[in-house]
Amino acid sequence: MTKIFIDPGHGGTDPGAVGNGMQEKNLTLQISSRIRDILLNEYEGISVLMSRTGDQTTSLTQRTDAANNWGADFYLSIHVNAGGGTGYEDYIFPGLGAPTTTYQNLIHEEVLKQVDYRDRGKKQANLHVLRESNMPAVLTENGFIDNTSDAAKLKQSSFIEQIARGHVNGLVRSFGLVRKNLAGPLYRVQIGAFTVSTNADQLAAQAEEKGFDTYISYRDGYYKVQIGAFANRENADQLAGKAIEAGFEAIVIQE
Ligand SMILES: [Zn+2]
Repeated sequence: MTKIFIDPGHGGTDPGAVGNGMQEKNLTLQISSRIRDILLNEYEGISVLMSRTGDQTTSLTQRTDAANNWGADFYLSIHVNAGGGTGYEDYIFPGLGAPTTTYQNLIHEEVLKQVDYRDRGKKQANLHVLRESNMPAVLTENGFIDNTSDAAKLKQSSFIEQIARGHVNGLVRSFGLVRKNLAGPLYRVQIGAFTVSTNADQLAAQAEEKGFDTYISYRDGYYKVQIGAFANRENADQLAGKAIEAGFEAIVIQE
C-alpha cells in the first residue's frame, strides 16, 4: 500500500493568494481532490489522506502532524502562486538528494507535459511542510492567480483536470503505481451523486462514521459517493442492503 498525503494549501480563514476573482484555497482544493479521485479510481494499492477535504482552517503544524502520524510515504502540497510572475515551479527542502529529487523531477516533468505553463524550474526552499514532514515532500506552485493568462487557464475545469493528471502521472512513475484492471463489469454501490464536491465529501464523512469505506469517483460531471465495487452482483446487492438499513439511499450501478 502506497500512502500519499495530499495537502491543499490554505483554507478557511486563510484564502492564500487572491486575484482575478479567485482564491488560492479553492483552487488548491479542486486540484487536490481530483488528484485523490484519479489515484483511487484508477490505481491499485493506494491510500490517500488529505490535510483538508473542505474549507477548514488548518495550521501548518496540523498538516505535517497528520502526515507524520499517518506514516505517509509521500507528502504532496498543492499551491497557486502570486506576485507578478507566470508559470509552474515546484519546491523541495534545500540540500536533499534522492529519492526526494527524483520525485520532484518526475512530477515536474509530468505536470509540464500536461499544461502549457512556462517552466520556472525546480527549486528549493525552507518551508514548514517540506521541513517538518518526516517523509519525502514536494510542494508545487501551479500558475499565478494574479496573472491574467494563468488565471484564465485556472478558471477552466479541464485545465484543473490536466494539472491533476500531471501530478498523478508523476506519482505513478515515482512509486511504480499499477493501473487497476478495469476489464469486465464492475458493480459499484453508490449512496449519492453531486455536482458540488463538498456535498459529496459531507455524505462520505457520514458514511465513514457509520463504518463504511467510502471513496469519491468523479464521472460525467458528478462526484459519486461510493462504498464498494464488486465483480459479483450479489455482493454489491448485499452491501447496498446494509447501507439502506443504515439510512442511506444506496443503489447498485454497473460500470
Ligand atoms: Zn500558497
